[in-house]
Order: sequence, then C-alpha cells, then structure tokens
Amino acid sequence: MTESLKRVVVVGASLAGLNAAETLRDQGFEGELTLIGAEPNLPYDRPPLSKQLLTGEWDVDRLPLRSESELEALRINWVLGRRAASLDLAARALRLEDGEPIAFDGLIIATGASPISLPGSELEGVHTLRSEADALRIRADFERGGRVAVVGAGFIGAEVVSSARARGLDVALIEALDAPMLGPLGPDLAAFMADLHRDAGVDLRTGRRVTEWLGGERVEGVRLDSGEVIEASTVVVGVGVRPTVGWLANSGLSIGDGVICDQYVRAAPDVYAAGDVCRWPNAYLRPFAYAEPQPTMRVEHWTNAVEQGAAAASNLLAESRGEPLTAFSPIPYFWSDQHGLTVMAAGITSPHDAVQVVHGSLAERRFAALYARHGYLSGVVAVAWPRMLRRYQQLIRDHTEWRDALAAARELET
Ligand SMILES: Cc1cc2nc3c(=O)[nH]c(=O)nc-3n(C[C@H](O)[C@H](O)[C@H](O)COP(=O)(O)OP(=O)(O)OC[C@H]3O[C@@H](n4cnc5c(N)ncnc54)[C@H](O)[C@@H]3O)c2cc1C
Repeated sequence: MTESLKRVVVVGASLAGLNAAETLRDQGFEGELTLIGAEPNLPYDRPPLSKQLLTGEWDVDRLPLRSESELEALRINWVLGRRAASLDLAARALRLEDGEPIAFDGLIIATGASPISLPGSELEGVHTLRSEADALRIRADFERGGRVAVVGAGFIGAEVVSSARARGLDVALIEALDAPMLGPLGPDLAAFMADLHRDAGVDLRTGRRVTEWLGGERVEGVRLDSGEVIEASTVVVGVGVRPTVGWLANSGLSIGDGVICDQYVRAAPDVYAAGDVCRWPNAYLRPFAYAEPQPTMRVEHWTNAVEQGAAAASNLLAESRGEPLTAFSPIPYFWSDQHGLTVMAAGITSPHDAVQVVHGSLAERRFAALYARHGYLSGVVAVAWPRMLRRYQQLIRDHTEWRDALAAARELET
C-alpha cells in the first residue's frame, strides 16, 4: 500500500457504500475507514421495504445487509445519524451538518437518491417510500385499514399496490402515462402489467394526474385531472427519485442529474461515486448511440449499487497504487415482484425499435421478450422465468445482431 491513501471516507452507509468498504478491505486497504450515514441504521436492504415488510411477512430484524461480526471485521469508524453537509475538494475535507470537519485522502460518494414529493401533499397519511422508517409508517397505516391510493405506477408504486392487495386492502393506482412501467418496458409489456394489476383487483387509473389533495389534517383522497375523486385514507407517492447531491453544491465537482463521473466512476482525483447517485458513461451503451455524444446513465437498481460500489473502491485503490483503472461497463439489470410474479430485465429495453416474445406467452404469464435497438439485441425481459434472462445476458453483452438473436431463440425452442 502506498502512503498516499491513509484515510478513506465513504458518504452513504447503505448498499453501494457498504460494498465499497468491503472491497477496500478485501483488496488490502489497512488505513482508517469512515462510513457516514444520515440514517441511524447500520446498512440494511431496501427491496423488502416495498415487499415483505409491507405485507407483514418480515419484520425489520430481517433487513440488515450484514451480521454484526461481518461488520466488525471491516474495522469501520461509523458516523451514523449525521449528514455530510458540504465538501471542500481542495482541502480534501467534508463537513457534517453540525460543523464537524472530516478529512480524507480518498472519498467515495454513495448518497443514493431521495423520493420526489408532490406539492400540496403535506397531509397526515401521505407517504413516500425510501427508508425503513417510511416503510414502518406505511405499514402502520395499512394496519389501520381503509382505502389506499398509490400515485405513480413505477417499480415502487406497483410493488406497494401489490403488497396492499396481498393484505386484502382496497387500492387505487394512479399513473400519468398510459400504462404502468411504460418507461422501462415499452407499450406491449406495460399493457401486460396493466392487466396484471386489474386482475389482482387494483382500481387502475392511467393517463391521469392528481390535481388536488383532499382532507383536513389527514388525507381523505385526491382529485384527478378528470375531475373524479379517489377516496383514500392512506396515499403513497411513488413518482420517482432525485440523486442526493444537494450537499455537493459548490464542491467543485460536476453535478447534474447525479455526480458526473468518467468511465472509471471517478468524479475527481481520488474521488469516486457509486450507486443511485452516480452518472457515468457506460461503455456498453456506445453501439446504441450513433450520433449522440457518448451517453451517460444513472441506474437506480440493487445490483448496480453492489457492483459499482466495488468498482469505485477498486479504482480508488488502483489510482493510489499507480495501477491502471478499470472501466465500469455492466449490462444494467433489475427485478421487481408484483402480484406474485417476478419481472426481471437486463440490458436496454426502452426506447426500442422492436420487441418480440420468444419463449412462453403473455397469456400464460410466463415468458421472455427480446428488445432490439439499432439492429442489435439490446435487452431481455423475463417474467416468472429467471433462467431465460440468464440465457440472453451474454448475447446482450456481445452486442449480438437482432436477426442472430432471433435465430438463437428459435434454436432454444427446438
Ligand atoms: C422500497 C424500495 C424497493 C426496491 N426494490 C428493488 C428491487 O426489487 N430490485 C432492484 O433492483 N432494486 C430495488 N430497489 C433499488 C435499490 O434498493 C437501490 O438501487 C439501492 O438501495 C441503491 O443503493 P445506494 O447505496 O446507491 O443508495 P441508498 O440505498 O439510497 O443509500 C444512500 C444512503 O446515503 C444516505 N445519505 C444521503 N445523503 C447523505 C448525506 N449527505 N450524508 C450522509 N448520508 C447520506 C441515505 O440516508 C442512505 O442511507 C428498491 C429501492 C427501494 C427504496
């Protein structure tokens, strides 16, 4: 280990930050390692928050990402329940909200993303969902009973609806676009998702926006742009997130929709970003972007946070040792559990030129669909069929031509 890297600070004590810390230790970093987290919790898992925690199958004791002994072995100086408030790059120091300075030689930014709330929604019984505390508040409201409305039919909204239905609650799902998950899946599969919700007894209202919040202290419902009133004593808003970058204003880092990094997820010398907060040029995207400048992306999914946290740590160490850095170029991947089905996607699924169901069928509710972009296989979506997703991941990575991908699918069928 070179002398240059004695103190590494990771801001954000969650999935990406924890994986960065583990990689630092795995790869021989013996110096001082500090993890700063705004929440009071040790790192815990978020996917169960909208699933098992809301249905009541799990309690919070199932959420920690690592056991106490695994965390002890990492020799971390935990700074929890305190927020980093500013960064001074030149001084190589950050400041906590109470003014305490923390100096570093290497920094990993893993502050994730924060839910967007809607104006006028500051009523009791209206929630967003990102943290364990949010999930417990929503669960308590589910336990009170009464009608639930969910605004936004992306992953989080759709999963909250699904968990509410699993508890037998009466639920409305309001979506501004014409179908749920239209952005990530495209129109054909989004129509499938709409049927899935309706068959599960969800009152699905697509192409509708909330124009008014009804109630006194506690929410009683929402008015839609059609004039209709949806009564609800609990409302969950799932209209997306923004990267948590406010504390980096005036830091000298390039900030836009995320911390802008290079292909090594480096934001500045000895400063890296990972997880939902990181925007970087994924080299995997290059063949899909003809005239555009090299496109950048930000991924809001679990597997990316794990892999990118590790990549950031590994490149920080390589930089300090004068070794070559490694570009971070994964195929994006996510899963979502809705109404008893697992939807998995890999690659780039939207916008697309063509989509074709190549195995199973929408009617069976078990299928794999391939997506094409600019003549290449760009993505795959598998519903209730994880094995099929894995079969196409390598073809996606290899930028297989669309006609060859279809031929491979026909071969698999025989
Ligand atoms: C309810 C829910 C369900 C999900 N389900 C799935 C799923 O099924 N499949 C999937 O692929 N992905 C899912 N995800 C997404 C996945 O959990 C995220 O992509 C992942 O948590 C991102 O990890 P991260 O470490 O980048 O950010 P986060 O997990 O958001 O952690 C960032 C941490 O930084 C802290 N922080 C922020 N600002 C500061 C500051 N200034 N100082 C100190 N600390 C700060 C935050 O409090 C937070 O603890 C889900 C997410 C949620 C919320």
